[in-house]
Amino acid sequence: MSKKLCIFANQFMEQNDRPFIIAGPCSVESREQLLAVSEALCRMPRVRMIRGGVWKPRTRPGGFEGLGEPALRWMKEISDSPLRMADGQPVRFCCEVARPEHVTLCQQYGIQTVWLGARTTANPFMVEEVCEALRGSNMQVMVKNPVSPDLRLWLGAIERMQQAGIQHVAAVHRGFSIYHWRNAQQVYRNDPLWEMALELRRQRPDIPVICDPSHIGGNSRLVAPLALAAVQLDCDGLMIEVHPSPADAFTDGAQQLTPAELSTLLSTLPYTSGHGNPASLEPLRKQIDDIDHEILSLLSLRMNLSRQIAHIKKEQNLTVYQAKRWEEVMKDRLQVATELGLSTDFIEELLEKVHGESIRVQMD
Ligand code: PEP
Ligand code: MN
Repeated sequence: MSKKLCIFANQFMEQNDRPFIIAGPCSVESREQLLAVSEALCRMPRVRMIRGGVWKPRTRPGGFEGLGEPALRWMKEISDSPLRMADGQPVRFCCEVARPEHVTLCQQYGIQTVWLGARTTANPFMVEEVCEALRGSNMQVMVKNPVSPDLRLWLGAIERMQQAGIQHVAAVHRGFSIYHWRNAQQVYRNDPLWEMALELRRQRPDIPVICDPSHIGGNSRLVAPLALAAVQLDCDGLMIEVHPSPADAFTDGAQQLTPAELSTLLSTLPYTSGHGNPASLEPLRKQIDDIDHEILSLLSLRMNLSRQIAHIKKEQNLTVYQAKRWEEVMKDRLQVATELGLSTDFIEELLEKVHGESIRVQMD
């Protein structure tokens, strides 16, 4: 297990494997539902913690807003019962908190781990209030990314938690609301923007990153491929929504898995122990290094040609941007890309970047 994950879950973790799995319903809906899902999850050796929404932040009014205190009472009842998680420990629950009162109630009912939802992380006033309520406690806090792709807000909420003395903080990557001008059809409920989660990890290697493929995907069919992608991107944990009967769920029905679906997903997920032999990659990595250097020299040559072209355009009173030429270039390159078996989406994006830089160089 990575050192940082030990730090996050030190009260429970002993095993040397990742990812850390948190699963459970979007919302706690009844005692029977919570008990049924808890019993099913306790039979799964990989599940380390059970989530359950107690207060639900609804984007629009009129939906189910969570049961509040009764849900916490059932969690405590289950934690105090003889039911055990696969590691032999009493059931560990976690839930979202958005107000100081939520924190106080969680403490009253023995909840050790809470998370800030995306809508809360986006609001520093609310984050501050929750931090004050948490100050001095030894609770673990997961901070979901804010709704919009603003890394500084995400980092800021994590920093605020740490400044309030919270020792065990993790980040949850649940994707971002963004408008796609390129693809009118949106595949994901929330765009994963994986680069953002990777950048958070680059800046804060001490903070474990838990991916929430359920809220990214918004559809149960997308959960497994997203979970797999997250593991391949070296995430430390997964938070997955599971409901005994997703079709009847009060919230997020489309994205919740049945316990059986989670079990299948977990059995196909690779677990990374960090015991591989990276040296075996070296010869291939060396070739990739050489190719990257070659690409960079070619790009430098290409930009020098753009500078020469800029002079001629200036002398001849031609505009820098030449739509017809650009259309021909793109058409030709996409054809070559297809012949070479490269993804045309990727090459289109890459060439747009190169062309953008060429225009910038010519306007200098
Ligand atoms: C949730 O976890 O059910 C939830 C509301 O998530 P988010 O804050 O990511 O929208
Ligand atoms: Mn949900």
